[in-house]
Amino acid sequence: MKAETKIRMTKQRQVILEELCKVKTHPTADEMYQMIRKRLPKISLGTVYRNLDILSGLGMVLKLDVGGTQKRFDGNVNPHHHVRCSECGCVADIMDLPVDPDLDSKAQKVTDFRIKRHSLEFIGMCPSCQEAEKRRVA
Ligand SMILES: [Zn+2]
Ligand SMILES: [Zn+2]
Repeated sequence: MKAETKIRMTKQRQVILEELCKVKTHPTADEMYQMIRKRLPKISLGTVYRNLDILSGLGMVLKLDVGGTQKRFDGNVNPHHHVRCSECGCVADIMDLPVDPDLDSKAQKVTDFRIKRHSLEFIGMCPSCQEAEKRRVA
């Protein structure tokens, strides 16, 4: 009985991981729930939340500390920067800007903290919001 529960959990986690890795949108837990429900109709929002927490605790997904009201998740755990749209709140990856490995030690030198990592978030206006603005102005 117990083993069965474990397998089911693993399956749920696997589906969550697969769906998260498919998208580049950095979905919120609610958005993840909508995606997962298509494959696992019986899953609850709470289960999705719990599994996302477990996966991020295991380092298999990233929980983004970006601004905005809801936590967003990322299936790409390689270090990379993010850019957030100030208008619609969407989050995109910046893959062509290398993460500076020296920044952590530089920060450590000027604080009393033991630095573990850093995250950089750029704020801008995404292409579709720029288009929308152009249409409004025109
Ligand atoms: Zn936008
Ligand atoms: Zn990302």
